[in-house]
Amino acid sequence: MPTPTGVGSEELRRGNLRAILQTVHRHGPTTRAELTKQLGLNRSTIGALTAELQSLGLVSEEAAAGGGRSGSGRPSHLVVPRADNVVAAVEVGVDRIAVAMVGLGGEIMERRTRTHQRGEHDVDHVVDVVAQMVEDVLAVPGDRRCQGIGVSVPGAVRTTDGMVRFAPNLGWVEEPFTALLGKRLGRPVSTGNDANLGVLAEHLRGAAVGFSDAVYLSASVGIGGGFLVGGRPLTGATGYAGEVGHLQVDSVGPVCRCGAVGCWETKVGENVLLRAAGRLSGGGPPAVAEVIAAAAAGRPGPVRRWPRSPTGAVWASAPSSTSSIPEVVVLGGCLAQVWRACEDRVNDAMSRSTMMTPREDVLIRSARLEDDAQLVGAAELAFAPVLDDPQTALVTA
Ligand SMILES: [Zn+2]
Repeated sequence: MPTPTGVGSEELRRGNLRAILQTVHRHGPTTRAELTKQLGLNRSTIGALTAELQSLGLVSEEAAAGGGRSGSGRPSHLVVPRADNVVAAVEVGVDRIAVAMVGLGGEIMERRTRTHQRGEHDVDHVVDVVAQMVEDVLAVPGDRRCQGIGVSVPGAVRTTDGMVRFAPNLGWVEEPFTALLGKRLGRPVSTGNDANLGVLAEHLRGAAVGFSDAVYLSASVGIGGGFLVGGRPLTGATGYAGEVGHLQVDSVGPVCRCGAVGCWETKVGENVLLRAAGRLSGGGPPAVAEVIAAAAAGRPGPVRRWPRSPTGAVWASAPSSTSSIPEVVVLGGCLAQVWRACEDRVNDAMSRSTMMTPREDVLIRSARLEDDAQLVGAAELAFAPVLDDPQTALVTA
């Protein structure tokens, strides 16, 4: 929040600009009266700051319809984020590449999705495909300013330069994906880990709104874990914290794609569920949905056997809960599907099996943003510079 004491007036002004822009971006159109109240500033200061954001083309002001009134009883202006400031959000998944144009305020305005074959993740090819899709989505007619590109990848990403250190399910090791894409597009590109972006997205716009300690766990081929601790993302010293899919849970095996033995994701990923149902690996989310539907229709065998305790979701939730003591665990991917199908059994097993976090102290929810969590998180990553310093970071071209 703004107005710390002892801060120079220029710094204070920048902090207040940031606070107003972030408020309308995250919460939508807000009256000046509400901003005055929330930010603890006087009306004339709010008026001057919103005028500055208007001149930057980041917000517009409208007469508030109906309700919004200032303390003096006069109608209050509504400060509206301008959605013609856009970013391109990209999800490089194991099964698909999704690209969306997202406006300031968070609305997904256009999207393109391409499925791709597992195993076809040559980095130059992926850069080509993503670049074409980004150019395509940004070419939709209209007068817009692109503030940058945000990308979600299922792997460990170095925060300083976006180097993808290790993404086992894409087969990437030390791939300069971010630099290659930035060079190809001639625009700023930021890349983040899929689960870290998932927890950010669910915290800002989904099932973890209002919680400052949250865990996001999403399973497809692998398991991604994103942690929010005290309102801040848990990154560790290098940015790679939270790779819970590669915690060893079985010293005997099997061998994981990462090269280690008995990683958690070898026990809980969607292919384990499919094999438990007597199906071939690799069917992806549609095959998982069929297994879950069969369970919901009264044939829960595979789900019950997945992997060996009552549900995979228990396996997925309990150790993470124990390690960070969250208020809420948000489940995505096939974990969300299993949770919805077997909520009672998960609750039952968790009340018996978790030591540090009594079941009643932690909420478990399925991801509200569902398949869009990574796109929403990637959009936030791309908007971050302008939200942090509207005046300096704004791309005006
Ligand atoms: Zn592993």
